Amino acid sequence: GVKIENLWKIFPPNVVALKNINVEIKPGEFYVILGPSGSGKTTLLRIIAGLEVPTKGRVVIGDKIVVDAEKGIFVEPRDRNIGMVFQNWALYPHMTAYDNIAFPLKLKKLPREEIDKKVKEVAEALGIADLLDRKPGHMSGGQQQRVAVARALVKQPDILLLDEPFSNLDARIRVTAREFVKEIQKKLGITTILVTHDQADAFAVGDRVMVLRNGETQQMGSPEELYNEPANVFIANFIGDPP
Ligand code: ATP
Repeated sequence: GVKIENLWKIFPPNVVALKNINVEIKPGEFYVILGPSGSGKTTLLRIIAGLEVPTKGRVVIGDKIVVDAEKGIFVEPRDRNIGMVFQNWALYPHMTAYDNIAFPLKLKKLPREEIDKKVKEVAEALGIADLLDRKPGHMSGGQQQRVAVARALVKQPDILLLDEPFSNLDARIRVTAREFVKEIQKKLGITTILVTHDQADAFAVGDRVMVLRNGETQQMGSPEELYNEPANVFIANFIGDPP
């Protein structure tokens, strides 16, 4: 799991992007961070990934402290064993799906046969085995997303971070894409943290959801709890109509 303790992020001179965030995400849980634009979602995800340092507080992944501002502990992103899928998927356009997925393993200088085995395994699991020779420009949005998820999973990370993974997909394939992500997550049992501004996305995939506003936690709970017992008017309005 992932523990976030007393986490603050203040961008100079005085933008309080995160204000005392505390949460314990259980192993195998699908956890969603939901909030409007500017609420601090991406900053929180980037701190977990090690792409940003907190002003105060700490993050523990498994039983390893990956960052502790007070103690001056900072584990480099590559040593955190995290898989990340960005909003635009960030696939290399000139590489085939195979080479995109193999890329993190080539960086680790694994033997070619081992890379080949792992790429084919993950492609099989994600239903993209027949797309491996194609370049991103010759795939649909949903297929590109699967390749991006495959690339994030191929190193067998301890946790998977997803930043607005559905926002570039049109409404038609959005529902399928949600089902796909949820299904893979359950199948692999991988602890997953997803960031979104879309309550329908959050409710469709989340075991539990944290609602952020102006860097502050408004409520944490299951989709049912948030829907049935909103903690304040902001949540009630933000959650809006039933999914
Ligand atoms: P969005 O959905 O629009 O991406 P978000 O919820 O992910 O928004 P963040 O990007 O985490 O929000 O930003 C939180 C706050 O921190 C905002 O007020 C933003 O302007 C500010 N912020 C983010 N990054 C920086 C930075 N590098 N320097 C200064 N301020 C920043």
